Amino acid sequence: MTARTVEVAVFAGVRGPARTFSYLVPDGLDLLPGHLVRVGLGARAVPGVVISLDGAPAARELKAVDALVHPLPLLRPHQLALASWIAARYRCGLADAVRAMVPPALASRARSSRLAAARGERTEAIFALDSGGRDALAGAVRVGARQLATLRALAAGAVTSRDLADAGGSAAAARALAKRGMVLASARAVRRVPAEFAFPDEDRARDLPATGPQAVAIGEITGALGSGRGFLLHGVTASGKTEVYLRAATTALARGDGVIVLVPEIILTAQVVARFIARFGDRVALLHSALSAGERFDEWRRILDGVADVVVGSRSALFAPLERLGLIVVDEEQEPSYKQESDPRYHAVDAALELGRITGAAVVLGSATPRVVTYEAARKGEITPLALPERVGELALPPTTVVDLRLELRTGNRGTLSQALREALQRTVAAGEQAILYLNRRGFATVVLCRDCGYVAKCPACDIPYALHVGGRGAEPPDSLVCHRCGRREARAPEVCPACGSARIKQLGVGTQRVEEEVRAAVPRAKVIRLDRDAIRAKGAHAAAYERMRSGDAQVIVGTQMLAKGFDLPHVTLVGVVNADTILNLPDFTAAERTFQLLTQVLGRSGRGEAGGRGIVQTYLPEHYAIRAAAAHDYVAFAEAELEGRRRFGYPPFGRLAMLSTQAKKIETVEKRSHELAAWLREAAGDDAEVLGPAPAFAAKRAGSYRAQIVLRGDPERVLDRVTVSDEWTVDVDPVTLLG
Ligand code: ADP
Ligand code: ZN
Ligand code: ZN
Repeated sequence: MTARTVEVAVFAGVRGPARTFSYLVPDGLDLLPGHLVRVGLGARAVPGVVISLDGAPAARELKAVDALVHPLPLLRPHQLALASWIAARYRCGLADAVRAMVPPALASRARSSRLAAARGERTEAIFALDSGGRDALAGAVRVGARQLATLRALAAGAVTSRDLADAGGSAAAARALAKRGMVLASARAVRRVPAEFAFPDEDRARDLPATGPQAVAIGEITGALGSGRGFLLHGVTASGKTEVYLRAATTALARGDGVIVLVPEIILTAQVVARFIARFGDRVALLHSALSAGERFDEWRRILDGVADVVVGSRSALFAPLERLGLIVVDEEQEPSYKQESDPRYHAVDAALELGRITGAAVVLGSATPRVVTYEAARKGEITPLALPERVGELALPPTTVVDLRLELRTGNRGTLSQALREALQRTVAAGEQAILYLNRRGFATVVLCRDCGYVAKCPACDIPYALHVGGRGAEPPDSLVCHRCGRREARAPEVCPACGSARIKQLGVGTQRVEEEVRAAVPRAKVIRLDRDAIRAKGAHAAAYERMRSGDAQVIVGTQMLAKGFDLPHVTLVGVVNADTILNLPDFTAAERTFQLLTQVLGRSGRGEAGGRGIVQTYLPEHYAIRAAAAHDYVAFAEAELEGRRRFGYPPFGRLAMLSTQAKKIETVEKRSHELAAWLREAAGDDAEVLGPAPAFAAKRAGSYRAQIVLRGDPERVLDRVTVSDEWTVDVDPVTLLG
């Protein structure tokens, strides 16, 4: 029996909220969940996706669905199930979650009555029964014998020309029927254009025997295909994780299952991507932000059509329309970019684990530095821990020295390079080897830090660093200190250090440019490259810099976060971290974790070849556990200390968070609104959650609007179930940062 009504997630435009509406199904149209349709919305015809059949009986006159756009459902049942989970968990509309699963270009392409096939590809014709065809089958319209056989075949589920021919019909007959409105004719891609991402020499390890720990991991994962189980693959950099993904993927594909591989940012992980392409060739579809909308759409079509069954991409590649799913890999699971910062605010790791439960796919979270949340889940057995404790080929992790910058200042060195780092750099270059110098850019000039004794101005109530709000111009108040957790404010920032009396307390940012100049002065004969957000704006800058280092054309590279990944350079024997503690001082619950992760990652760039390597970490906080553990390559020491702190304050994994944010042009509006909501939340929360704030957001004023936030800590879902939060607020469930 066909459905009488359908719920349709309507994409009125690319922007603006997506919503769901009910429509009548015209007689003879067989709709399935996931079908792309055209419907009327006001005076416009807009695309939408059928999300369910036969919803609540219509209370009023409903419009009918205008047309079916593509014969096959565009969203698989498991995708719709995941969309429901996302809508419930992250408190967004179901239509928002559904829209996140289709490529942005779909909305525009669906305006025509046919969904375009990928450009530049060979296609084959596909067909489905249209409403007129049912009437003909019921005898209402006369058609020829070949046409009748064609209609019957379509009614029985035929799709391709070959299906039709097998059943005594034909594509020619189907096309003739399409002209009379009885058949819907379309096309699907059968082959892709040659990949532009090919690095055939990247597949060195393909035929080598797995190491012992790799073999164990591969065995466990392939044994769990179909079980929906989750794994933490915890392996230091260059321990062979990617090879584990590749071999588990091979087994999944041999079973006829598809594979999804999430990487944090494809441009920064080109080596991982290249290895998947080298091994699986045209079966790989790439979904990432550097693609144009059209290219993205083409890749998506190849997945939908079953041409590509290995999907590699960033966060949203999780929503690829694979028919069968056997394995999901989330590489570098700790990366904050797995959290989407607009609706739907899902976390791709949690969503991947859920998708595993829905489809039975095994889910592998890989990292050298997993989040402590993930580590704890593995320790408690919620997911299965797998370890690759050593680098492949007995390469040692680089011995690392911590340099105390306070002592450096005392010896009169005002530069950004310590004596130790400068000398190491000179020795490295003299030996014909290469060096990476790394700076943390974020967090500068937000913290009041004494450069002589390391004192940091903190909120006495929260024990997190105060943020410095620079003022003092014209009628503005002087510099003040603000706690972004509880909202406490000190009207004046100190001019001298309360601990040691030094005047060097207000920090001046150190930029990559300044470091680059000092490096050039220290090693005048070396070629030096700089790689930061400014330098990378030019397309291909990251790859070009990598190539110059790889070929030996340059000896030293100075850069920010984007150096931490992908740079697999065997001749780099020195990694210097210019300022290890800037992120550490950010008022955020993940500050220590991010510091540890970044340091570990960047130190892992050293000593990847036979010449070995070393690391030097410069810091004002040499005693901090995150820095000590990173220098000692001791993940467990870090995790134990970090978990202890999280437990004390009820941060994840010991409590969950939700952050509510609002903004308005007038500060009074923001204050009134946020105090009202905080009061309601406190009343509703009972013992289920603490209500922190309201406090000014980390970016307290942006684009002329004042911004405030409230944080729920504990069991935020139960509190949010009891309070209706107005549209003036955004709700971020399970945020990865509280620096809104
Ligand atoms: P990770 O993903 O943990 O950084 P990779 O999988 O990239 O590690 O492996 C690091 C290096 O070791 C790569 O150059 C890879 O080709 C090589 N490699 C991986 N597994 C093996 C193996 N079993 N035998 C020899 N070399 C391997
Ligand atoms: Zn001091
Ligand atoms: Zn405070």
